[in-house]
Amino acid sequence: MDNTVRTRFAPSPTGFMHIGNLRTGLYAYLFARHNGGKFILRIEDTDRERMVEGAEEMVYRTLAAAGMDHDEGPDKGGAYGPYVQSERAGIYREYAEKLVELGGAYYCFCSKERLEGLHGENGTHTYDRHCRDLSREEVQARLAAGEPYVIRQKVPDGVVSSYTDMVFGEISVSSEDIEDGILLKSDGMPTYNFANVVDDHLMGITHVIRGTEYLSSTPKYNLIYDAFGWERPHYMHLPPIMKDATRKLSKRYGDANFEDFVAKGYLPQAVVNYVALLGWCPKNNLEKMSMAEMTEYFDVDGISVSSSIFDEAKMRWLNGEYLKEMSAEDFFRVSAPWIAKADPEGKFDAKEIASLMQTRVDVLGEIPEKIAFLNGFGEYDLGMYEHKKMKVDVDVAKRAVKVSISALEPLAEWDEESIKAAIVKAAEEEGMKSGQVMFAMRVALTGQPSTPGGAIEMAVVLGKEESLRRLRFSEALLNA
Ligand code: GLU
Repeated sequence: MDNTVRTRFAPSPTGFMHIGNLRTGLYAYLFARHNGGKFILRIEDTDRERMVEGAEEMVYRTLAAAGMDHDEGPDKGGAYGPYVQSERAGIYREYAEKLVELGGAYYCFCSKERLEGLHGENGTHTYDRHCRDLSREEVQARLAAGEPYVIRQKVPDGVVSSYTDMVFGEISVSSEDIEDGILLKSDGMPTYNFANVVDDHLMGITHVIRGTEYLSSTPKYNLIYDAFGWERPHYMHLPPIMKDATRKLSKRYGDANFEDFVAKGYLPQAVVNYVALLGWCPKNNLEKMSMAEMTEYFDVDGISVSSSIFDEAKMRWLNGEYLKEMSAEDFFRVSAPWIAKADPEGKFDAKEIASLMQTRVDVLGEIPEKIAFLNGFGEYDLGMYEHKKMKVDVDVAKRAVKVSISALEPLAEWDEESIKAAIVKAAEEEGMKSGQVMFAMRVALTGQPSTPGGAIEMAVVLGKEESLRRLRFSEALLNA
């Protein structure tokens, strides 16, 4: 017998990849890879109203960016296709009819009006099994007459349906608490309740990994497996990701979507790494892990039954760790588009700026603001030059800026070493502390009291010509 583990990721193409969905897909991916198995992508698009144009492409883009490569799927093909539910309508109908034959389902001709009349105490209604025992002849006659119908699950009486979830343990539901729910709708499309069973079975899924919202419906799905005489898969349900103690993370509460985070300057691998930690902790307690490491360490025992809270500050920190550990070249590659936002014409040396930024940002999106000084001075207030501890005031600043101009003008080499040597020497000759000169020089170069680097680094980034132009401009303002 083939024991290959097969897991699937079954997103609905709603236009964005919510962090919770991404985590579900990631765990399915890690579980499959950890066990040398296959990871399958299935698009669940039977709810046509929720569909969004281009959403399927977003799923492919996200999986590719996240490094979760699937073995089978709509775009890759495979032996168990089609992998898009809307292309499987014929399959669901065939199996729904088969289930009727097997005694696990029945035709229901109840009108909408009749169903609406079945109000329970709290406004909800449970189907009263009105059509459950229609005779075969009556059903045939009504079908032949073209009456609209649905196919409902025939939940057996007096059973308790139980299974052992890999995360939550034993889950049992009594058949009294299970409605004869719709499997095939009047438009011929399946409900999720039916499609998930048929697809997971036909696609040979061994381990169903999904959110806890399906934990207590699974006994109902298992009754369908049983009625078909199919082997049930194993189940792993995952607790929700919360925004805080009471609210689930959802798009209602802001940008909890993969591509939004990437657009804000997070690295896909950092987001994926952080998402992995939302509800799972490896035995060795590692936090920063590559996909290969996560695959190696992934184990069900480390999955928590309690919900986890999405903490963007922690994800920022982790992202910063990824940025710091990149090679200068890689960092330059990922930061270049962000540097270009502040310097669209490429007037400054982007490599210098990148090396200045690498240890100073946690998220790439911070870069444009940090280097806004490149575009000239903002509000210019001489108070910026006051620094009590360093004993700098406007008068000291005037002298400092003057000596830095004369020290820098003759320089042939414009690099950190040469600039520093020149400033230190000039400060000494002037009887000033080099810290005082550099503080005033930094303000004079940027027009800002706090800058993403010291005076020397600012000067290197700005280049000689621009640095001198700014120093002279500031000198004039100081003396005005
Ligand atoms: N399409 C379902 C969802 O997005 C998937 C549920 C499942 O994995 O079975 O919630």
